[in-house]
Amino acid sequence: MSTIDSVESRLYKIPLAEVLTDAKHGDHTHFELVTTTITTADGLQGTGYTYTGGRGGHAILAMLLHDLGPYITGRDATAVDTLYDDMQWHMHYVARGGVASFAISAIDIALWDLRGKRDGKPLHQMAAKDGQGVNRRCHAYCGGIDLNFTTERLLQNIDGYLADGFNAVKIKVGQPELDYDVERVAAVRERLGDERAFMVDANYALDRKQAIRWSTAFKPYNLLWFEEPTIPDDYAGYAEIGDAGGVPLAMGENLHTIHEFEMAMAQSALSFVQPDASNCGGVTGWLRAAALGEAAGVTVCSHGMQELHVSLVAARGSDASVQMTSPADPADYPNVGWLEVHSFPIDTYTDRPLVVENSLAVAPDVPGTGVNFDWDKLYPHLQ
Ligand SMILES: [Mg+2]
Repeated sequence: MSTIDSVESRLYKIPLAEVLTDAKHGDHTHFELVTTTITTADGLQGTGYTYTGGRGGHAILAMLLHDLGPYITGRDATAVDTLYDDMQWHMHYVARGGVASFAISAIDIALWDLRGKRDGKPLHQMAAKDGQGVNRRCHAYCGGIDLNFTTERLLQNIDGYLADGFNAVKIKVGQPELDYDVERVAAVRERLGDERAFMVDANYALDRKQAIRWSTAFKPYNLLWFEEPTIPDDYAGYAEIGDAGGVPLAMGENLHTIHEFEMAMAQSALSFVQPDASNCGGVTGWLRAAALGEAAGVTVCSHGMQELHVSLVAARGSDASVQMTSPADPADYPNVGWLEVHSFPIDTYTDRPLVVENSLAVAPDVPGTGVNFDWDKLYPHLQ
């Protein structure tokens, strides 16, 4: 028993270096970071967090301050699974799959940070499957939010990613005109060459018919995946788009409950699933979603929060028993999960921005989640 003594939550609003745009969320000028620090009666502290694209952070903070923080105070911090399920039911009627998914994530990640610090174990070890080797490395790709960039500016971005040592790239699509999307995809594929992994993401901007047209037009460019071609709620539509369009599909950042993942696994014929621990219930929610993906033969990747997900994707991406130590040629590791290196630079506000060696992301090796915020750097953005 390790009694939860206090739960302290904060909201930060952090400006981006430039305006970033995608097909459905419009312009991003800021992102929001909500942190939760749990202190136990035996003197340990763990921190978790979630983030938004700039809206909704006040509602998440309010739920943490008024509902979930008081609810878990006095409970046993080591009972992580029990607390997770109890928090879900506590907020189910009002907030199932919505704000609660984000708020519970912040607390759950703090509980895993505490667990690792108590047991002296890093997250990549705690997340490993029983009987499977420990793996600290995974594929990584840069996920641009770049729909508003001219093709010239887009290619400059790609050059920057390659110069930083990455060998895989995702760009936004979902322009009103298919021809313009195809022109950008063709230009990026030419810049990358034939070997590097290349993905696109429409942020659910298309309907089924459009998505099939777009997929068909993208087919010559050898995409690793087409992400969120249509709304995440159209589970059966994904199967139709994948079958008729002939490009492998990915989604997951908008699946927030385990039941949504169950429906996607059963109906959507995905090739890749991308749970985000910031909005599907923290580490506990991510691992439960990953287990569904593994059981369905769907490669497990991540969305956002690279500083945390690096430990999870390395430990649990499908076929993670493969010890990734050499440069990441996707052809050598076809079923190993991919870490998204997101354009919201949360990791630059920690003491360990994402480490990339030989194009592979490397998980931290310290007890806990390994995500330790630079509070002084965050302070000017406190709301
Ligand atoms: Mg996406």
